[in-house]
Amino acid sequence: MSECIFCKIINKEIPAKIVYEDNKVIAFNDINPVASIHILFLPKLHIKNINCLNETNYSYIINIHQAIQKVAIKLNINEQGYRVISNCGKGAGQTVFHLHYHLLSGNSLDPKII
Ligand code: 5GP
Ligand code: ZN
Repeated sequence: MSECIFCKIINKEIPAKIVYEDNKVIAFNDINPVASIHILFLPKLHIKNINCLNETNYSYIINIHQAIQKVAIKLNINEQGYRVISNCGKGAGQTVFHLHYHLLSGNSLDPKII
């Protein structure tokens, strides 16, 4: 049994507001949103972070980008714009060590930081 909170969400052991799901990707609302739209996209495979991508799991990144595109269109933010962030490692603020991408958009989006 995985101790990873995101694996538990993938396995439906704990609930989340799922906005997109296919056989390789799941996306759900962040429990502590920092923008009016704050969705997490993750592979349905436990990969710690970007440092752990390799030839056997790179393909998930394509699927994640496809999912982001679909959700952006569904939420009608594709023209207005959105930001995608992945924190890699403690020094960057990563707190959940299952690779994920934050999709941020909406009226309350913080000013550009980079
Ligand atoms: P990180 O800090 O690792 O880049 O992002 C982890 C994100 O996961 C945070 O924004 C945090 O609010 C979110 N998070 C942590 N635990 C849960 C949970 O149990 N459910 C959901 N939906 N989000 C979570
Ligand atoms: Zn995991």
